Amino acid sequence: MIALLALTLAAATLQADAPITCAGEHRQGAILVCRTAPGAQVTLGDLTERADGEGWIVMGHHRDAPSQAAFRVRHEGGVWESRVDVAAREYEIQRIDGLPPAMVTPPPDPEFQARLARENQAKGAAYASRWEGRGFLDGFEWPVTGRITGVYGSQRVLNGEPRRPHFGLDIAAPAGTPVLAPAGGVVTLADPDMYWEGGLVFIDHGQGFTGVFMHLDSIDVEVGDVVERGQVIGTVGATGRVTGPHLDWRVRWRDRQIDPEALLALDVSDLR
Ligand SMILES: [Zn+2]
Repeated sequence: MIALLALTLAAATLQADAPITCAGEHRQGAILVCRTAPGAQVTLGDLTERADGEGWIVMGHHRDAPSQAAFRVRHEGGVWESRVDVAAREYEIQRIDGLPPAMVTPPPDPEFQARLARENQAKGAAYASRWEGRGFLDGFEWPVTGRITGVYGSQRVLNGEPRRPHFGLDIAAPAGTPVLAPAGGVVTLADPDMYWEGGLVFIDHGQGFTGVFMHLDSIDVEVGDVVERGQVIGTVGATGRVTGPHLDWRVRWRDRQIDPEALLALDVSDLR
């Protein structure tokens, strides 16, 4: 009994000593918004990033994050180190048959390959954005509401061929329905005609934590625009390689794909 009490106390003390507090869960595909010492270096798994001048940092776990992750804070007071359990998820298998072959395997001609390379470069440059604002503290709202036709993480089998997992949340809505910025941020990409994505907008919600909005029919923002939560950024469409009008909303932190639905549940009010 005494030993148990001592253990409990030790755990409580450790918690109190942790120089970081977070909203969000340690779970595959989850977002974490944390507060620590200004400028602290924070390691989560195999990624190390720096908190901003007020100690805010936004992070996340990948779809296939291992069951344990290093969690470390290096600041002027020293180094604090812990390990966290990352809850595993099960993902759906989604089979789609009867797609035109060009939607599954792009044509091999050089002109087309050059286009894909150009588009990949533009996306890479946009992902490199590190906006100093803190849109991620706004709390996230739905960019559009409608029937969910695809969820994060599902394993896709297209025309019988296994493909990369689907990282988006697909929300079906009539073409022309306004798409709202789910939180504040800066527009880092706005292109009406990408091969896969069609009309495409990226919003850096702060520190490079980036929302991706695909298949837009029209786009109401330009690169460099600072948008507020709830602002119209474009309209739902069926552009790019799609079978019908919907918004495909994705979220990326560094090379990790985050589940958009995890953003909707985030509550940072205890950290402010
Ligand atoms: Zn999708």
